Amino acid sequence: MSQSTKGKLNYRCPSCFIRDIDIDLFYDADQEEFYCLRCSFHGDENRVLQLNEQAKFRYGLINKRILSFNEDNDALEVEIYKGK
Ligand SMILES: [Zn+2]
Repeated sequence: MSQSTKGKLNYRCPSCFIRDIDIDLFYDADQEEFYCLRCSFHGDENRVLQLNEQAKFRYGLINKRILSFNEDNDALEVEIYKGK
């Protein structure tokens, strides 16, 4: 078994992140894939990027400010947040 190393870039584990745990993946050069020390996740770079992109659905309004919640079943009233 190869020594655990980080990859060229640090990727977070998508499986742990979905459970609100932020942990970096390690890279196995022999298998050419990333893996997590905490859970059983492993996958190549494309898989990691794809799953991390999917996890963003939880933060769809992260750069928006909610102006009004409106009535039930009406859309939220939002504006793009530009900072202070
Ligand atoms: Zn994990």
